[in-house]
Amino acid sequence: TTYLPSDARYKSMKYRRSGKSGILLPEISLGLWHNFGHKDNLLNAQLLLRKAFDMGIIHFDLANNYGPPFGSAETNFGRMYNDDFRPYRHELFISSKAGYDMWPGPYGNFGSRKYLVNSLDQSLKRMNLDYVDLFYHHRPDPHTPLEETMGALDFIVRSGRALYVGISNYPAAEAKKAIAILKDLGTPCLIHQARYSMLDRWVEDGLLDVLTEGGVGCIAFSPLEQGMLSNKYLNGIPADSRAGQGMTYLEKETVEKNLPKIKELNKIAIERGQSLSQMAIAWLLHNKAVTSVLVGVSKIEQLVDNAKTLENTSFSDEEVRKVKAILTA
Ligand code: NDP
Repeated sequence: TTYLPSDARYKSMKYRRSGKSGILLPEISLGLWHNFGHKDNLLNAQLLLRKAFDMGIIHFDLANNYGPPFGSAETNFGRMYNDDFRPYRHELFISSKAGYDMWPGPYGNFGSRKYLVNSLDQSLKRMNLDYVDLFYHHRPDPHTPLEETMGALDFIVRSGRALYVGISNYPAAEAKKAIAILKDLGTPCLIHQARYSMLDRWVEDGLLDVLTEGGVGCIAFSPLEQGMLSNKYLNGIPADSRAGQGMTYLEKETVEKNLPKIKELNKIAIERGQSLSQMAIAWLLHNKAVTSVLVGVSKIEQLVDNAKTLENTSFSDEEVRKVKAILTA
C-alpha cells in the first residue's frame, strides 16, 4: 500500500454516542450503496474511502446487495481494505446488512436465520473481514417470526460474526418489539438505520421516541434525498448526476416536483452561510435522537462539502419556523 492516513484524522470530526451504548459514531458516516459497484470508477471509490478516513469518517456502511451487481460493493471494499485499511481495522466501524433480495430460491431474501447467517458469511468473505462491527436486518419481514430474526442477530453476535446488531426500515411498533426481544436475549440493539431527511420526516412520528426510550441510536440514510437537497439540481439536471443517469431510485420527475421547495430551502441556506447540503445535514444533526448522518457521495468535493456541516448545526427559532413553513407548504 502507498496510503498513509493523515495524522490529523481525529482533529475535526465530531463523534456521538449511539443510544445507551459504548459506541461513538462520527456525526457523518459514509455509505457505499452507490459509487462502489463493478460499474463504477474504482480509483475514485478508493480515493473516497481514503479521504473519508483522513477526515475521521471511520464508519463505512455496506449491505450484501450494494453494487451493482449485488455483492460488488463489498468485493471492491474488500480489495481496498486489503490495500489500504488492514492496519487500521481496530479504528474502523464497518457495517453490513441482509434483508432484501440477494440470491435465487427461498433462502436468499427477507428474515430467516438461514438467510441472515449464510448472507453474512458471504459478506465477510467478500470484504476480507473476520467480523463486521455492525450487522443489520435490512427491512422487516412480514412472514418470519420476529423472534427468529432477532434470535439470528443474537446468534450472529455470539458466534463472533458481528460485534453489534441493528435494524433498518422498521416502523415504530415493530422496532419497539424487536428492541425488546434483543434486550431479553442479551444482545441489545445498537442502532436503527432509517430514511430521514428534510423531505421525509416519517421518523419524527413515533420512531425516534421509541429509539430514545429504548436507548437505541439512529443513523439517517438518504439525508440529501439522493442529491436533491444540494445545489446540484437548482439549474437543471446535470448528466453525471443520479437523476441524469436515469437511476430508478431518483427519477427526473421527482426532482422536478420538489424543485420549488428545494429553491426556497436554498435561500435559507444562503442566509445561514451554508450550502444546501450542509443545511440539510445540519437539520438532522440538530435532533439529539440522531447519532449519525449517513451520506453517499460520488465525488471527493461532495464529501468535503458535507463534512463542513459540523461548523454550524444549530438553528435559531426563526430559522426553524421558516424551514418548517417551507417543508409543510
Ligand atoms: P444521500 O441522500 O446523501 O445521496 C447521495 C447522493 O447525493 C450522492 O451520490 C450525490 O449524487 C449527491 N450528493 C451528496 N453530497 C453532495 C453534495 N455535497 N453536493 C451535491 N450533491 C451531493 O444518500 P444515499 O441515498 O446515497 O444514502 C446514503 C447511504 O445510506 C447509502 O450509501 C447506504 O449506505 C445507506 N442507505 C441505506 C438504505 C437502507 O435501506 N438501510 C437505503 C438507502 C441508503 P450524485 O451521484 O448525483 O453526484
